[in-house]
Amino acid sequence: MLKIDQRTSRAMNRRLVLNLLRREGPLSRAEIADVTGLSRATVTFVVGDLVKENYLIEQETTRGASGRRPTPVAINYDGHAAIGIKMNIDRIECILTNLSTTPILSHAIDYSNTRPETIVEASHQAIKHLIANAPKGIGPVTGIGFSMPGIIDNRNGICLKSHRFGWNNVHFAEQLFAKSRIPVWMEDDTIAFALAHHLFGLGRNVGTFIALAIGAGIGSATVADGVVLRGAHGHAGKLGHVKQHLEGPLCECGQRGCLQASYSEPAIVARWRKTKDLPAAKDRFDMLEAAKQGDAETRAILKDAGEQIGIQLAAQINTIDPEIVIAGGEATAFGPFLLDPMTETLGKYCFMQAPPILADERDNFWSPGAAALATQRLFDFEVDVAADETPV
Ligand SMILES: [Zn+2]
Repeated sequence: MLKIDQRTSRAMNRRLVLNLLRREGPLSRAEIADVTGLSRATVTFVVGDLVKENYLIEQETTRGASGRRPTPVAINYDGHAAIGIKMNIDRIECILTNLSTTPILSHAIDYSNTRPETIVEASHQAIKHLIANAPKGIGPVTGIGFSMPGIIDNRNGICLKSHRFGWNNVHFAEQLFAKSRIPVWMEDDTIAFALAHHLFGLGRNVGTFIALAIGAGIGSATVADGVVLRGAHGHAGKLGHVKQHLEGPLCECGQRGCLQASYSEPAIVARWRKTKDLPAAKDRFDMLEAAKQGDAETRAILKDAGEQIGIQLAAQINTIDPEIVIAGGEATAFGPFLLDPMTETLGKYCFMQAPPILADERDNFWSPGAAALATQRLFDFEVDVAADETPV
Protein backbone atom coordinates (compact mmCIF):
# COMPACT_ATOMS: atom_id res chain seq x y z
CA MET A 1 0.00 0.00 0.00
CA LEU A 2 2.81 2.36 0.95
CA LYS A 3 4.47 1.72 -2.38
CA ILE A 4 1.30 2.64 -4.28
CA ASP A 5 0.83 5.78 -2.19
CA GLN A 6 4.36 6.90 -2.88
CA ARG A 7 3.97 6.27 -6.58
CA THR A 8 0.67 8.17 -6.61
CA SER A 9 2.05 11.20 -4.82
CA ARG A 10 5.11 11.22 -7.08
CA ALA A 11 2.84 11.22 -10.14
CA MET A 12 0.65 13.94 -8.61
CA ASN A 13 3.66 16.13 -7.82
CA ARG A 14 5.03 15.74 -11.33
CA ARG A 15 1.73 16.77 -12.83
CA LEU A 16 1.34 19.65 -10.43
CA VAL A 17 4.72 21.04 -11.52
CA LEU A 18 4.18 20.34 -15.23
CA ASN A 19 0.72 21.93 -15.26
CA LEU A 20 1.95 25.02 -13.47
CA LEU A 21 4.74 25.47 -16.02
CA ARG A 22 2.32 24.78 -18.89
CA ARG A 23 0.00 27.57 -17.71
CA GLU A 24 2.55 30.08 -16.43
CA GLY A 25 5.68 29.50 -18.52
CA PRO A 26 9.21 29.32 -16.98
CA LEU A 27 9.54 29.60 -13.18
CA SER A 28 12.35 29.07 -10.69
CA ARG A 29 12.28 26.16 -8.25
CA ALA A 30 11.55 28.59 -5.40
CA GLU A 31 8.60 30.07 -7.30
CA ILE A 32 7.27 26.58 -8.04
CA ALA A 33 7.46 25.74 -4.34
CA ASP A 34 5.69 28.97 -3.38
CA VAL A 35 2.82 28.50 -5.83
CA THR A 36 2.26 24.76 -5.38
CA GLY A 37 2.81 24.59 -1.65
CA LEU A 38 5.27 21.71 -2.14
CA SER A 39 8.45 21.79 -0.06
CA ARG A 40 11.65 23.07 -1.70
CA ALA A 41 13.17 19.61 -1.30
CA THR A 42 10.26 17.95 -3.10
CA VAL A 43 10.39 20.50 -5.91
CA THR A 44 14.15 19.99 -6.30
CA PHE A 45 13.61 16.24 -6.44
CA VAL A 46 10.69 16.35 -8.93
CA VAL A 47 12.36 18.94 -11.17
CA GLY A 48 15.61 16.96 -11.11
CA ASP A 49 13.81 13.85 -12.33
CA LEU A 50 11.95 15.73 -15.06
CA VAL A 51 15.14 17.42 -16.29
CA LYS A 52 16.87 14.03 -16.42
CA GLU A 53 13.99 12.61 -18.44
CA ASN A 54 14.15 15.60 -20.80
CA TYR A 55 10.62 16.85 -19.98
CA LEU A 56 11.99 20.03 -18.37
CA ILE A 57 14.89 22.20 -19.39
CA GLU A 58 16.92 24.71 -17.38
CA GLN A 59 16.98 28.13 -18.97
CA GLU A 60 19.76 30.69 -19.08
CA THR A 61 20.18 32.52 -15.80
CA THR A 62 19.80 36.26 -16.15
CA ARG A 63 21.69 38.73 -14.02
CA GLY A 64 19.36 41.29 -12.45
CA ALA A 65 20.15 44.48 -10.55
CA SER A 66 20.21 42.57 -7.29
CA GLY A 67 22.60 39.89 -8.53
CA ARG A 68 22.19 36.47 -10.03
CA ARG A 69 18.58 35.33 -10.39
CA PRO A 70 17.61 31.72 -9.68
CA THR A 71 17.62 29.45 -12.74
CA PRO A 72 14.16 29.21 -14.29
CA VAL A 73 12.98 25.85 -15.54
CA ALA A 74 10.57 25.39 -18.44
CA ILE A 75 8.80 22.56 -20.20
CA ASN A 76 11.03 21.12 -22.91
CA TYR A 77 8.29 20.82 -25.50
CA ASP A 78 10.73 19.59 -28.12
CA GLY A 79 12.21 16.89 -25.87
CA HIS A 80 9.54 14.38 -26.87
CA ALA A 81 7.11 14.01 -29.73
CA ALA A 82 3.56 12.74 -30.21
CA ILE A 83 1.59 11.52 -33.19
CA GLY A 84 -2.03 12.47 -33.83
CA ILE A 85 -4.26 10.57 -36.22
CA LYS A 86 -7.70 11.79 -37.26
CA MET A 87 -9.95 9.33 -39.04
CA ASN A 88 -12.21 10.58 -41.83
CA ILE A 89 -14.49 8.75 -44.24
CA ASP A 90 -11.87 8.37 -46.98
CA ARG A 91 -8.50 9.17 -45.41
CA ILE A 92 -6.56 9.46 -42.20
CA GLU A 93 -4.75 12.73 -41.50
CA CYS A 94 -1.67 12.19 -39.38
CA ILE A 95 0.69 14.58 -37.74
CA LEU A 96 3.94 14.47 -35.81
CA THR A 97 3.98 17.18 -33.15
CA ASN A 98 6.08 18.32 -30.24
CA LEU A 99 4.57 18.11 -26.74
CA SER A 100 2.60 21.33 -27.21
CA THR A 101 0.94 19.74 -30.29
CA THR A 102 2.76 22.15 -32.60
CA PRO A 103 2.89 20.40 -35.99
CA ILE A 104 6.29 19.23 -37.22
CA LEU A 105 5.36 16.96 -40.09
CA SER A 106 2.10 15.71 -41.57
CA HIS A 107 1.07 12.80 -43.73
CA ALA A 108 -2.26 11.51 -45.09
CA ILE A 109 -3.24 8.10 -46.36
CA ASP A 110 -6.34 7.46 -48.50
CA TYR A 111 -8.35 4.25 -48.39
CA SER A 112 -11.36 2.76 -50.10
CA ASN A 113 -13.09 1.21 -47.08
CA THR A 114 -13.22 1.95 -43.35
CA ARG A 115 -12.92 -1.60 -42.01
CA PRO A 116 -10.92 -1.64 -38.77
CA GLU A 117 -8.08 -3.73 -40.27
CA THR A 118 -7.75 -1.21 -43.13
CA ILE A 119 -7.48 1.68 -40.67
CA VAL A 120 -5.02 -0.15 -38.40
CA GLU A 121 -2.76 -0.84 -41.39
CA ALA A 122 -3.07 2.72 -42.77
CA SER A 123 -2.27 4.15 -39.33
CA HIS A 124 0.71 1.84 -38.95
CA GLN A 125 2.09 2.93 -42.34
CA ALA A 126 1.56 6.60 -41.45
CA ILE A 127 3.35 6.19 -38.10
CA LYS A 128 6.33 4.53 -39.80
CA HIS A 129 6.45 7.31 -42.40
CA LEU A 130 6.36 10.09 -39.80
CA ILE A 131 9.04 8.53 -37.61
CA ALA A 132 11.30 7.77 -40.59
CA ASN A 133 10.99 11.32 -41.91
CA ALA A 134 11.14 13.21 -38.61
CA PRO A 135 13.67 16.03 -38.68
CA LYS A 136 16.89 15.56 -36.70
CA GLY A 137 16.73 16.59 -33.04
CA ILE A 138 13.12 15.58 -32.46
CA GLY A 139 12.76 13.53 -29.28
CA PRO A 140 11.22 10.07 -29.10
CA VAL A 141 7.50 9.59 -29.77
CA THR A 142 5.83 9.12 -26.39
CA GLY A 143 2.38 8.20 -27.61
CA ILE A 144 -0.15 8.08 -30.39
CA GLY A 145 -3.54 9.75 -30.21
CA PHE A 146 -6.33 8.52 -32.48
CA SER A 147 -9.56 10.46 -32.87
CA MET A 148 -12.77 9.58 -34.67
CA PRO A 149 -16.44 10.50 -34.35
CA GLY A 150 -18.11 7.99 -32.10
CA ILE A 151 -18.65 6.64 -28.65
CA ILE A 152 -15.28 5.72 -27.25
CA ASP A 153 -14.18 3.82 -24.18
CA ASN A 154 -11.06 5.95 -23.80
CA ARG A 155 -9.71 3.99 -20.86
CA ASN A 156 -9.51 0.73 -22.80
CA GLY A 157 -9.07 2.19 -26.29
CA ILE A 158 -12.28 0.71 -27.68
CA CYS A 159 -14.67 2.25 -30.20
CA LEU A 160 -18.00 1.14 -28.76
CA LYS A 161 -19.96 2.60 -31.66
CA SER A 162 -19.36 4.80 -34.66
CA HIS A 163 -22.42 5.35 -36.85
CA ARG A 164 -20.37 7.01 -39.56
CA PHE A 165 -17.96 4.11 -40.00
CA GLY A 166 -20.20 1.24 -38.89
CA TRP A 167 -17.84 0.23 -36.08
CA ASN A 168 -19.11 -1.74 -33.09
CA ASN A 169 -16.93 -2.68 -30.16
CA VAL A 170 -13.62 -2.37 -32.04
CA HIS A 171 -10.54 -2.81 -29.81
CA PHE A 172 -8.61 -0.42 -31.97
CA ALA A 173 -5.89 0.83 -29.60
CA GLU A 174 -4.80 -2.71 -28.79
CA GLN A 175 -4.64 -3.64 -32.49
CA LEU A 176 -2.60 -0.59 -33.43
CA PHE A 177 -0.28 -1.02 -30.44
CA ALA A 178 0.38 -4.63 -31.52
CA LYS A 179 1.91 -3.20 -34.71
CA SER A 180 3.41 0.11 -33.62
CA ARG A 181 4.60 -0.84 -30.09
CA ILE A 182 3.89 2.76 -29.01
CA PRO A 183 1.08 3.47 -26.49
CA VAL A 184 -2.17 4.41 -28.24
CA TRP A 185 -4.90 6.62 -26.76
CA MET A 186 -8.21 7.17 -28.49
CA GLU A 187 -11.14 9.52 -28.11
CA ASP A 188 -14.13 11.05 -29.84
CA ASP A 189 -12.86 13.73 -32.22
CA THR A 190 -14.78 16.66 -30.72
CA ILE A 191 -13.66 15.78 -27.20
CA ALA A 192 -10.06 15.58 -28.47
CA PHE A 193 -10.50 19.00 -30.12
CA ALA A 194 -11.71 20.44 -26.78
CA LEU A 195 -8.81 18.82 -24.94
CA ALA A 196 -6.25 20.35 -27.31
CA HIS A 197 -7.72 23.82 -26.74
CA HIS A 198 -7.85 23.22 -22.99
CA LEU A 199 -4.17 22.25 -22.82
CA PHE A 200 -2.50 24.48 -25.40
CA GLY A 201 -5.06 26.49 -27.35
CA LEU A 202 -7.64 29.24 -26.99
CA GLY A 203 -8.97 27.66 -23.77
CA ARG A 204 -5.63 27.37 -21.95
CA ASN A 205 -6.47 29.98 -19.33
CA VAL A 206 -10.24 29.52 -19.44
CA GLY A 207 -11.88 27.32 -16.79
CA THR A 208 -15.20 26.73 -18.54
CA PHE A 209 -15.77 26.78 -22.28
CA ILE A 210 -17.63 25.01 -25.08
CA ALA A 211 -15.76 23.67 -28.11
CA LEU A 212 -18.16 23.57 -31.04
CA ALA A 213 -17.13 21.59 -34.12
CA ILE A 214 -19.09 21.85 -37.36
CA GLY A 215 -17.63 19.43 -39.87
CA ALA A 216 -18.96 16.18 -41.29
CA GLY A 217 -21.07 16.14 -38.12
CA ILE A 218 -21.74 18.66 -35.34
CA GLY A 219 -20.33 18.21 -31.85
CA SER A 220 -19.89 20.42 -28.82
CA ALA A 221 -17.58 19.27 -26.07
CA THR A 222 -17.57 21.09 -22.75
CA VAL A 223 -14.66 21.90 -20.46
CA ALA A 224 -16.15 22.75 -17.05
CA ASP A 225 -13.98 24.08 -14.22
CA GLY A 226 -10.87 22.77 -16.00
CA VAL A 227 -12.16 19.26 -16.69
CA VAL A 228 -13.12 17.91 -20.13
CA LEU A 229 -16.57 16.39 -19.73
CA ARG A 230 -17.05 12.94 -21.24
CA GLY A 231 -20.24 12.02 -19.40
CA ALA A 232 -21.09 8.69 -17.83
CA HIS A 233 -20.75 6.77 -21.13
CA GLY A 234 -18.55 9.05 -23.25
CA HIS A 235 -21.59 10.48 -25.10
CA ALA A 236 -21.27 14.04 -23.83
CA GLY A 237 -21.31 16.74 -26.49
CA LYS A 238 -23.50 15.08 -29.12
CA LEU A 239 -25.15 18.39 -29.98
CA GLY A 240 -25.46 17.23 -33.58
CA HIS A 241 -28.06 14.66 -32.57
CA VAL A 242 -30.31 17.11 -30.74
CA LYS A 243 -33.64 17.16 -32.60
CA GLN A 244 -34.24 20.30 -34.59
CA HIS A 245 -36.79 19.53 -37.32
CA LEU A 246 -38.73 16.46 -36.23
CA GLU A 247 -39.75 15.57 -39.78
CA GLY A 248 -36.33 16.51 -41.13
CA PRO A 249 -33.82 14.44 -43.09
CA LEU A 250 -32.53 11.07 -41.92
CA CYS A 251 -29.36 11.29 -39.83
CA GLU A 252 -26.42 8.84 -39.91
CA CYS A 253 -27.57 7.69 -36.45
CA GLY A 254 -30.79 6.34 -37.95
CA GLN A 255 -33.13 8.98 -36.49
CA ARG A 256 -34.86 11.88 -38.18
CA GLY A 257 -34.52 15.54 -37.43
CA CYS A 258 -31.01 15.70 -35.93
CA LEU A 259 -29.34 19.10 -36.10
CA GLN A 260 -26.37 17.77 -38.07
CA ALA A 261 -28.57 16.08 -40.68
CA SER A 262 -29.51 19.61 -41.81
CA TYR A 263 -26.55 21.78 -40.78
CA SER A 264 -23.29 19.82 -40.91
CA GLU A 265 -20.83 21.19 -43.46
CA PRO A 266 -21.76 18.61 -46.14
CA ALA A 267 -25.49 19.22 -45.48
CA ILE A 268 -25.09 23.01 -45.84
CA VAL A 269 -23.13 22.65 -49.08
CA ALA A 270 -25.57 20.04 -50.46
CA ARG A 271 -28.49 22.38 -49.79
CA TRP A 272 -26.65 25.16 -51.61
CA ARG A 273 -25.91 22.95 -54.63
CA LYS A 274 -29.55 21.86 -54.79
CA THR A 275 -30.88 25.41 -54.51
CA LYS A 276 -28.52 26.68 -57.20
CA ASP A 277 -28.70 23.50 -59.32
CA LEU A 278 -24.92 23.00 -59.21
CA PRO A 279 -22.80 19.90 -59.93
CA ALA A 280 -21.49 17.68 -57.11
CA ALA A 281 -17.93 18.96 -57.62
CA LYS A 282 -18.81 22.37 -56.16
CA ASP A 283 -17.52 22.52 -52.58
CA ARG A 284 -17.47 24.81 -49.56
CA PHE A 285 -14.77 27.00 -51.07
CA ASP A 286 -16.99 27.67 -54.11
CA MET A 287 -19.86 28.37 -51.73
CA LEU A 288 -17.77 30.80 -49.70
CA GLU A 289 -16.75 32.56 -52.91
CA ALA A 290 -20.41 32.91 -53.92
CA ALA A 291 -21.20 34.39 -50.50
CA LYS A 292 -18.30 36.83 -50.85
CA GLN A 293 -19.60 37.85 -54.28
CA GLY A 294 -22.83 38.83 -52.56
CA ASP A 295 -25.13 36.05 -53.79
CA ALA A 296 -28.31 36.46 -51.73
CA GLU A 297 -29.45 32.81 -51.77
CA THR A 298 -26.02 31.58 -50.70
CA ARG A 299 -25.88 34.05 -47.85
CA ALA A 300 -29.42 33.15 -46.78
CA ILE A 301 -28.49 29.44 -46.52
CA LEU A 302 -25.48 30.26 -44.35
CA LYS A 303 -27.53 32.67 -42.23
CA ASP A 304 -30.19 30.03 -41.64
CA ALA A 305 -27.54 27.46 -40.66
CA GLY A 306 -25.91 29.92 -38.25
CA GLU A 307 -29.27 30.72 -36.66
CA GLN A 308 -30.44 27.12 -36.35
CA ILE A 309 -27.17 25.94 -34.80
CA GLY A 310 -27.23 29.08 -32.64
CA ILE A 311 -30.63 28.13 -31.14
CA GLN A 312 -29.27 24.81 -29.84
CA LEU A 313 -25.95 26.33 -28.83
CA ALA A 314 -27.80 28.97 -26.78
CA ALA A 315 -29.63 26.19 -24.91
CA GLN A 316 -26.31 24.57 -24.10
CA ILE A 317 -24.81 27.90 -23.03
CA ASN A 318 -27.75 28.46 -20.71
CA THR A 319 -27.06 25.15 -18.98
CA ILE A 320 -23.24 25.35 -18.89
CA ASP A 321 -22.47 29.08 -18.50
CA PRO A 322 -19.17 29.11 -20.47
CA GLU A 323 -16.78 32.06 -20.71
CA ILE A 324 -16.20 31.50 -24.43
CA VAL A 325 -17.22 29.26 -27.31
CA ILE A 326 -14.40 27.97 -29.52
CA ALA A 327 -15.65 27.10 -33.00
CA GLY A 328 -13.78 24.71 -35.26
CA GLY A 329 -14.52 22.29 -38.05
CA GLU A 330 -14.60 22.68 -41.82
CA ALA A 331 -17.65 24.99 -41.72
CA THR A 332 -15.73 27.70 -39.85
CA ALA A 333 -14.26 28.45 -43.29
CA PHE A 334 -17.56 30.29 -43.93
CA GLY A 335 -16.42 32.83 -41.31
CA PRO A 336 -18.78 35.73 -40.59
CA PHE A 337 -21.40 34.47 -43.08
CA LEU A 338 -22.08 31.60 -40.68
CA LEU A 339 -20.75 32.89 -37.34
CA ASP A 340 -22.32 36.38 -37.30
CA PRO A 341 -25.91 35.05 -37.52
CA MET A 342 -24.95 32.51 -34.84
CA THR A 343 -23.67 35.29 -32.58
CA GLU A 344 -26.84 37.31 -33.15
CA THR A 345 -28.95 34.28 -32.26
CA LEU A 346 -26.99 33.77 -29.05
CA GLY A 347 -27.65 37.42 -28.23
CA LYS A 348 -31.38 36.76 -28.53
CA TYR A 349 -31.62 33.46 -26.67
CA CYS A 350 -28.89 33.42 -24.03
CA PHE A 351 -30.23 33.97 -20.54
CA MET A 352 -27.41 36.33 -19.63
CA GLN A 353 -24.85 38.04 -21.86
CA ALA A 354 -23.79 35.69 -24.68
CA PRO A 355 -20.16 34.50 -24.58
CA PRO A 356 -18.00 35.41 -27.59
CA ILE A 357 -17.44 32.83 -30.33
CA LEU A 358 -13.72 32.48 -31.13
CA ALA A 359 -12.99 30.75 -34.42
CA ASP A 360 -10.16 28.26 -34.78
CA GLU A 361 -9.47 28.86 -38.45
CA ARG A 362 -6.51 26.51 -38.87
CA ASP A 363 -6.82 24.26 -41.92
CA ASN A 364 -5.66 21.27 -39.95
CA PHE A 365 -7.06 21.44 -36.44
CA TRP A 366 -8.27 17.85 -35.99
CA SER A 367 -4.98 15.99 -35.91
CA PRO A 368 -3.29 18.25 -33.30
CA GLY A 369 -6.39 17.46 -31.24
CA ALA A 370 -5.62 13.77 -31.61
CA ALA A 371 -1.97 14.38 -30.66
CA ALA A 372 -3.18 16.08 -27.46
CA LEU A 373 -4.58 12.70 -26.37
CA ALA A 374 -1.02 11.42 -26.19
CA THR A 375 0.46 14.49 -24.49
CA GLN A 376 -2.34 14.91 -21.94
CA ARG A 377 -0.99 11.94 -19.99
CA LEU A 378 1.79 14.21 -18.81
CA PHE A 379 -0.58 16.87 -17.53
CA ASP A 380 -3.78 15.12 -16.57
CA PHE A 381 -4.70 14.90 -12.90
CA GLU A 382 -7.91 13.05 -13.61
CA VAL A 383 -6.30 9.85 -14.83
CA ASP A 384 -5.58 7.41 -12.08
CA VAL A 385 -2.02 6.24 -11.82
CA ALA A 386 -2.66 2.56 -12.48
CA ALA A 387 -4.44 3.32 -15.76
CA ASP A 388 -1.86 5.92 -16.65
CA GLU A 389 1.12 3.64 -16.31
CA THR A 390 -0.31 0.68 -18.17
CA PRO A 391 -1.35 2.06 -21.53
CA VAL A 392 -2.80 -0.32 -24.05
ZN1 LIG B 1 -28.47 11.81 -35.38
